[in-house]
Amino acid sequence: MSETRHNWTKEEVLDIYNKPLMELLYEAATVHRKRHDPNVVQVSTLLSIKTGGCSEDCGYCPQAARYHTDIEGNDLMNVQQVKAQALRAKEGGSSRVCMGAAWRNVKDGEEFDQVLEMVRTINKLDMEVCCTLGMLTENQAKRLAEAGLYAYNHNLDSSEEYYKEVISTRGYQDRLDTIDNVRKTNVTVCSGGIIGMGERLEDRAGMLVALSTLNPQPESTPINALVAVEGTPLEDQKPVSIWDMVRMVATTRIVMPETQVRLSAGRTQMTREGQAMCFFAGANSIFAGDKLLTTPNPDVNEDMEMFALLGLEPQKPFTKKVQPQTVEAKDSEFESLGEKPKWTRPEHTIERNEAAKERAKIIKQ
Ligand code: SF4
Repeated sequence: MSETRHNWTKEEVLDIYNKPLMELLYEAATVHRKRHDPNVVQVSTLLSIKTGGCSEDCGYCPQAARYHTDIEGNDLMNVQQVKAQALRAKEGGSSRVCMGAAWRNVKDGEEFDQVLEMVRTINKLDMEVCCTLGMLTENQAKRLAEAGLYAYNHNLDSSEEYYKEVISTRGYQDRLDTIDNVRKTNVTVCSGGIIGMGERLEDRAGMLVALSTLNPQPESTPINALVAVEGTPLEDQKPVSIWDMVRMVATTRIVMPETQVRLSAGRTQMTREGQAMCFFAGANSIFAGDKLLTTPNPDVNEDMEMFALLGLEPQKPFTKKVQPQTVEAKDSEFESLGEKPKWTRPEHTIERNEAAKERAKIIKQ
């Protein structure tokens, strides 16, 4: 088996992406079969534990408070609500629960303590637990690890160059620093991005270079197709074609042979044939449940029908790595430090974000 490379260049990645499709599919499927069981797909359930009202300006996100979307905001869910949803996800065939909070960064205090309790509770249900909570300090990463967190999601979204066209309230380096903080623990890293935001092919390749040159590479890489939501700056973007999605999945599989490649947002726009082609090209994870945070997703029964049709099986929990031990809050060796790290605020102007903000002000008046 060839070594995993950490020195991909943008040119090499673009050459792979642009190969004749049949050659690309064959190569990706070959890599996939060497490293993974092609009939096993990991199923995660994404749960929005705190929705809306976010201070950031991510141009694709309906949860940013500054834009005008129909999202109903919710305070942080309680532990029992989360447990009930996790049990439902488990019954539906999910091996992982990913909890998302619309926060810029984690703040020490009651709400974070509540999230730590959610992590303990779900790990005790023998499910893999993932969180996506924004930027994170090393101490916060260690506290999550101690609670039993299996994975932390923090997407790079796009290339460093194009990131500046989508988000002005934080910098690319903040993302990399958070991933670095997660790497100081035994929590696995989930990091990927979104295509269809108006980026060039060079930006897709740039994102894959940024991810694949991390050492170790992320254990999981979500590939999202933009769901253009009315009211956001990216509302007028055209849907991503299935061919772009297949090429992106296949290229990700080739440059990151071990990673679990996740078909994420945008699956409702894909036919079963399209999804089958993505699985053939190396995708081996999906998000289940009728909502992906706030955007639509195929429901669980539809997915299980698709699995039966394609002869796929859901992956069992802790197949790739042993279950972490949960340390109870009273036995914790880490305390809340009340840190206030200075994450970047570049605040450059992105015209379409500014325009969406102005439209929202008029609508809200
Ligand atoms: S993507 Fe996350 S950080 Fe960005 S606006 Fe949405 S909830 Fe906030």
